[in-house]
Amino acid sequence: MRWLDECGTMLPADNQGMDPERIRFCRRFFPEVTAAQWSDWRWQLRHRLQDLGTLERFFCLSAGERAALEQRGSGLPVAVTPYYAALLDPDHPGDPLRRTVLPVADEWVRAVGEAEDPLDEARDRVVNGLIHRHPDRVVFLASHSCAAYCRYCTRSRLVGQKQKLNDRWEQALAYIAAHGEIREVLVSGGDPLLLSTARLTALLSRLRAIPHVELVRLGSRIPMVLPMRVTKRLVAMLQRFQPLVMSIHVTHPAELTTEALRALHRLADAGVMLVSQTVLLAGINDDFATMSRLLRSLVRHRVRPYYLYQCDPIWGSAHFRVPVEQGIALVEQLARELSGLALPRYVIDAPGGGGKITIGPVTMVGREAGFLVLKDASGRIWRYPDPPVVSGTLAGV
Ligand code: SF4
Repeated sequence: MRWLDECGTMLPADNQGMDPERIRFCRRFFPEVTAAQWSDWRWQLRHRLQDLGTLERFFCLSAGERAALEQRGSGLPVAVTPYYAALLDPDHPGDPLRRTVLPVADEWVRAVGEAEDPLDEARDRVVNGLIHRHPDRVVFLASHSCAAYCRYCTRSRLVGQKQKLNDRWEQALAYIAAHGEIREVLVSGGDPLLLSTARLTALLSRLRAIPHVELVRLGSRIPMVLPMRVTKRLVAMLQRFQPLVMSIHVTHPAELTTEALRALHRLADAGVMLVSQTVLLAGINDDFATMSRLLRSLVRHRVRPYYLYQCDPIWGSAHFRVPVEQGIALVEQLARELSGLALPRYVIDAPGGGGKITIGPVTMVGREAGFLVLKDASGRIWRYPDPPVVSGTLAGV
């Protein structure tokens, strides 16, 4: 394979549409790799950056990053795919994407109210790997692995562990089959798209065979950190299991690269309903310019913004958390300036297992003589004719 010279005049003979930025990165750090290897998701997984010795070859590490990497013990692993590493700024530790995957010493600080399992998922674990909190839906933890580990991960106590999944799956599937009230299964993890296509096919087939399961939703960060996993073969398989929803974990508009968009388009073309979930992160995506760019881009590429999460108080997350009032101010500005189609629900997943609670400005501010008094995103007051409820007129009252 021939690589470009530094001014980019000679593309590798087999570049297969690789982005020129990625070609430059490869030439520097993986001079022997072919474009076909680079585009192979298994090659990407095998070559993840996972330890201090490797990471310092790619990045000029800050003292905080170095200290965190030296201290690593049994906590959340570190892993960055070469593809995602190519998106990070090698020289600036404050780079938004870099902060999401490289640990810093703040991770070891335990702030008030933080917990290892802040959502108390363990309480609603009905069998190993299955969480049943709301009557009509369950969370199926199908995998423990992720392509890259987000430093703010709510399930950092679980992901990155080596555990056998087969027995667990059987117990979870038996539980779902025995509970006719379950209509929706959120397959999460870890990342379910890291399962082999054969295993994921088997799991989806088993879920689809349960008559009362109406909807399967896959939660995944793969299109952002390992888009080459979204192969034509994978998508053709997913297409067989409609209706299928994929909830894409996306953090920043810089993640919407040519490769990531190709993956999203493939999924959308196959009829997979795409929605997004984003964690609001201090200094990463908590400003209007960044968040509005992200949300508008998602809609343009057929991903409906769904949830904007207040960061869960997982251990060592204080440096990521945005004050809620600041989050509300951001959401108000978004509501003023963006189409409703681009607005996600801003939620706090209530610590202790209360579920998602929508937070935002108070829009119903009172009643006046048969009118409901409303406040819009700009603070202006409006009146809507709305007679008071007469006792006994509402269903179930
Ligand atoms: S992809 Fe999801 S499960 Fe995996 S580390 Fe990130 S937040 Fe956690």
